[in-house]
Amino acid sequence: MTVLETATIPVVEARGVRKRFGDHDVLRGIDLAVAPHEVVVLIGASGSGKSTLLRTMNLIEQVDDGQIFLGGDDITDPRVDADKVRARIGVVFQHFNLFPHLSVIDNVTLAARRVHGIPKDEARARAQKLLDTLGLGAKAAEYPDRLSGGQQQRVAIVRAILTEPELLLLDEITSALDPQLVGEVLDLVRDLKGRGTTILMATHEMSFAREVADRVVFLKDGVLVEQGTPEQIFGAPQHPATAEFLARVH
Ligand code: ADP
Ligand code: MG
Repeated sequence: MTVLETATIPVVEARGVRKRFGDHDVLRGIDLAVAPHEVVVLIGASGSGKSTLLRTMNLIEQVDDGQIFLGGDDITDPRVDADKVRARIGVVFQHFNLFPHLSVIDNVTLAARRVHGIPKDEARARAQKLLDTLGLGAKAAEYPDRLSGGQQQRVAIVRAILTEPELLLLDEITSALDPQLVGEVLDLVRDLKGRGTTILMATHEMSFAREVADRVVFLKDGVLVEQGTPEQIFGAPQHPATAEFLARVH
């Protein structure tokens, strides 16, 4: 493969992805590619399929039809090793999933050690450096219940990026937070964007989407209705459904 070819391979690409639960078509043929270092934000009403799409990419949900490529590899091929795929992706969900019985640094390093086989000392050194960089260095020895919700969610993000995943999936990471704690989490996402992290995120924080997204994607009832720059989507939506959704959430 030449350098030019690798440069154009999306970090993740969904092609014709369909997912149904019972008789409910939740994803109805989604085509979406995220380029290296791009920040793509999914918006859409509750139930439009945002989480399901993210979950198919992390192989938590199997697609019924279509394919998903991670760095050019078809990860929907049934022969694929799901654990290996997941090791290449960082994920943070709405509810912080920190282990209550582990300190911050142990939470952050657990997967690096268990999944990636990084030696304990190296993992801890790397984690401490990252925590320091991201303003959480003083919290390394604390247990999760001593942290605010915003701090916990930031720790979950640090954990997700410790091993420098190819892709970071963020699903409504501020939804469970008190409003005054949302800002510090969004600041961290802004930081990650600055560091060149490739991010696909679902959010209902429209002002944040507008500010941080390179591209905004609007989903409705499992269909990708419209996508474009934040200026296009928020400033001049082309599809009536997009305008209607934005009028409702603003
Ligand atoms: P969003 O994240 O945009 O709110 P979701 O992807 O969570 O949307 O859900 C899309 C639709 O799929 C919803 O109607 C939801 O109830 C349904 N759904 C999601 N997961 C399941 C599941 N495991 N079983 C049945 N229905 C599901
Ligand atoms: Mg969701």
